[in-house]
Amino acid sequence: MTALLEVQNLSVAYGAIEAVRDVSFAVGEGQIVSLIGSNGAGKTTTLRTISGLLRPKSGTILLEGKPIADLAAHTILERGVAHCPEGRRLFGRMTVEENLQLGAYVRKDSGVAADMQRVYDLFPVLGQRRTLKAGLFSGGEQQMLAIGRAMMSRPRLLMLDEPSMGLSPIMTQRIFDTIKELQAAGTTILLVEQNALAALALSDRGYVVDLGRTTLEGPGHELLADERVRAAYLGED
Ligand code: ATP
Repeated sequence: MTALLEVQNLSVAYGAIEAVRDVSFAVGEGQIVSLIGSNGAGKTTTLRTISGLLRPKSGTILLEGKPIADLAAHTILERGVAHCPEGRRLFGRMTVEENLQLGAYVRKDSGVAADMQRVYDLFPVLGQRRTLKAGLFSGGEQQMLAIGRAMMSRPRLLMLDEPSMGLSPIMTQRIFDTIKELQAAGTTILLVEQNALAALALSDRGYVVDLGRTTLEGPGHELLADERVRAAYLGED
């Protein structure tokens, strides 16, 4: 079976700084796959490279078996890869509705209004506040809007960078429940998380990224039980 996304021996540098040295992983259609690892391990850089915002130094990125690393970011989005970035990057002076419309800018079909309604069904609080400016919202509400905006491109692959960052435990749970709901509705998910426990618990497969390299991989529940993972990322000795 061809994976929806396959990253092979990826290296990415910022000038002389090699942020990603040899990262390899695959995301199967319909799966939730997470990349975990400490701060600065290269996870965000990996997602930005898949999105076309950075170019690899070497390695291959395949979407349904076809190389995408040379394509423009908007073309990669049109091919079905959406990126919900770290820190949300919403337009704070624009309303909920305007932020969602921006997420749909690559679409040429007439289903945008129906998809906006789907986002409001998923997150009723956004529907109630559709005409309010996004900058007024709490961290959890902004994260919902950032996920909703990414969903507006109707992605096949949704990449989420640290969706639980800065959220309360209850709001974190709500976001992780939503990720499961999106998977059940047919979206494939690549998740980057500091919260390794919660991420692995809901993942079909996980990869540990350490100093720019993928060092361990396996089904989420197996990595959760792995002593090395527990010691390094779950705060256990
Ligand atoms: P975090 O969870 O903290 O974002 P990460 O695993 O996502 O960590 P990256 O943000 O990809 O890691 O960073 C990988 C390495 O690249 C780090 O050493 C970081 O300092 C460096 N780096 C990231 N962005 C830049 C940049 N724009 N210029 C130079 N170095 C950078």
